[in-house]
Amino acid sequence: MALVSDEIIAGFRTHFRSDVTPDVYRAPGRVNLIGEHTDYNLGFVFPIALEMACFVAIAPAGHGKLRAYSRDMGDEFRISVEELPNAKPAGKWHDYVVGVARELARAGVKLESRDLWIKSTVPAGSGLSSSAALEIGTAVALLDSREMNRLDIALLGQRAESGFVGMPCGIMDQYASVFGHAGAAIQIDCRSLTHEYVPLPRNAAIVAVNSMVKHELGTSAYRERVAECQAAVAAIRAIEPCVESLRDASLDLFNRVQNRIPDVPRRRARHVISETQRVIDFAAAARANDLGEMGRLFLASHRSMQHDYEITCEEIDFLVDTAITLPGVYGARMTGGGFGGCTVNLIAPDAANSFRENLTRAYQDKFGITPAFYDCKPAEGAGRA
Ligand code: ADP
Ligand code: MG
Repeated sequence: MALVSDEIIAGFRTHFRSDVTPDVYRAPGRVNLIGEHTDYNLGFVFPIALEMACFVAIAPAGHGKLRAYSRDMGDEFRISVEELPNAKPAGKWHDYVVGVARELARAGVKLESRDLWIKSTVPAGSGLSSSAALEIGTAVALLDSREMNRLDIALLGQRAESGFVGMPCGIMDQYASVFGHAGAAIQIDCRSLTHEYVPLPRNAAIVAVNSMVKHELGTSAYRERVAECQAAVAAIRAIEPCVESLRDASLDLFNRVQNRIPDVPRRRARHVISETQRVIDFAAAARANDLGEMGRLFLASHRSMQHDYEITCEEIDFLVDTAITLPGVYGARMTGGGFGGCTVNLIAPDAANSFRENLTRAYQDKFGITPAFYDCKPAEGAGRA
């Protein structure tokens, strides 16, 4: 990371002060391989942390404020350190930073005046979790080598996003950014908040394809899905009182009670319950090097999101439907919150070039948009760059 660090330090010096050497921290984005919308239902997810990351350069300052500049936004803000515990959201990117600082202050971490210079290589709003990368990058930078339990760092990032930014997210993104591991996927149990590292087959490449679209209903639809899952839990609880979240419902139980659940919550529940099982099956297939089964589960997950959870869109469905016809492709699915963003594809490494060319041409012909491709190799979690 030395090269990147030098670039980040140079950016800090040019923007703030040329006479200091800031410390540089890094927090990765993630691509979720399978287990979509299962985190807030306390099921399993299966992300990998990415080499694409948010970099934060930080140095002590004498102005009594927390001052942060995002190179990507070309925008700076400042807030006095005393105001942090009672800060209010501004409805801008600032909220991710201030929300994290507020959580740290509330957790008893003494914050002092600092300058932060931020640059991310995670594309924003594409389902690769630039938001958690920013939160966790801010958290490790502000902690500046002070000890904090790693799980607590992930949890305070999530609290910042749900309680301050106002996005009722699960724990996956922050957890993956903290606990990422080079060479392995992370199977996270979102109820017990524990994880297992699962090595991935060496003879397959993971490629994310950015549709370059993000339909605006994203946030409101996300809230709707959270509420619909709660409605499904309420309907199931009327029959089986021990069910507290969709994680507690097996497919057998669902099949027995499904005709007592109203149509929309029923389909949402079917997605979440079957998706949690698919994560377990996918992990087993990865351990067995069974690329055919991994690909089949990718596609089953996509169809479930398309028809039962209804969070895909025309562009994304086209990318998936086209990808699975191409040589060397084991499977494809949308990844991330939905309504645009990225697909994730499991492909034979020697098919990567033709995959890129064919998919680019087909997508351009259909939508007039050039997709972006990202090679996804599992990377380490947050820390010093
Ligand atoms: P995703 O996490 O999938 O990328 P989100 O909508 O959750 O999408 O988060 C994107 C938001 O995070 C951006 O709109 C911006 O407010 C904030 N963000 C991400 N990266 C940066 C950055 N480098 N600088 C400033 N804000 C950022
Ligand atoms: Mg996000």
